[in-house]
Amino acid sequence: MSTVIHMAAGEEPGEPEIFCSIQGEGITAGERRIFLRLSGCNLACSWCDTAYTWNWQGTPFRHERDRPGAPHKFSRRKEVIKTTTDEVARKALAYSAPGFVITGGEPLLQRLAVADLIRKLRAARPDAFVEIETNGTIDPGSTLWPLVDQFNVSPKLAHSGMPASKALKPSVLRAFNTFKNAWFKFVARNGADITAIEALAARLGLDRKRLLVMPEGTDSKLLQARLDQLRPICQARGLILSDRLHIHAFGNRRGI
Ligand code: SF4
Repeated sequence: MSTVIHMAAGEEPGEPEIFCSIQGEGITAGERRIFLRLSGCNLACSWCDTAYTWNWQGTPFRHERDRPGAPHKFSRRKEVIKTTTDEVARKALAYSAPGFVITGGEPLLQRLAVADLIRKLRAARPDAFVEIETNGTIDPGSTLWPLVDQFNVSPKLAHSGMPASKALKPSVLRAFNTFKNAWFKFVARNGADITAIEALAARLGLDRKRLLVMPEGTDSKLLQARLDQLRPICQARGLILSDRLHIHAFGNRRGI
């Protein structure tokens, strides 16, 4: 049986965003992966670099790329590909790589479809390493936990424009903390953000060894400037610094 799944549109008209590239971020950065991007998000971060997964025309969300008379909006009809897990698995399995990254948007909004999709991927590639990128607001649920090798959890701080009541769900983050291969990847702009990350982690009891700090930015020059600023602070405080390799290599484009 195949399950309906809502994918983000890729570069080819009418095709879902599925591609093979290197993991650009986090603890598996540099590894070759097959990426599957799902549509829909329960947050609306002002600097989101995949706003085409949620920032639909007619919605009131603000984005930093808004211009007077030209809000940074997308056509839901064009950007959402309604398809099936069979079809997505077939397309993803046409690529060869040691692992998959299921991303979004927020993929856990479709967690039952994601579980069905992973089973299909694993049926063909039992040894594949499966990562999920999530904003950490939704518990994966008992079906999904055992199917995933690694969660890349990216809770959003105040600079995302999201109120903490919406972006930070303590019970969900604590649940991720019990999964030994869940890594907390925080987007940061400056030292004050790192202080906020440490305070949050201490308050929730998150494992400090699994905290990553990643600069916010969608162009290589800005990323480099922020890396230079964040690096000595991370080194002094024993935190892992993550880059965004795909931005340096390819720029801010879809399907890379
Ligand atoms: S949680 Fe991620 S996908 Fe959703 S709006 Fe924020 S940055 Fe974008």
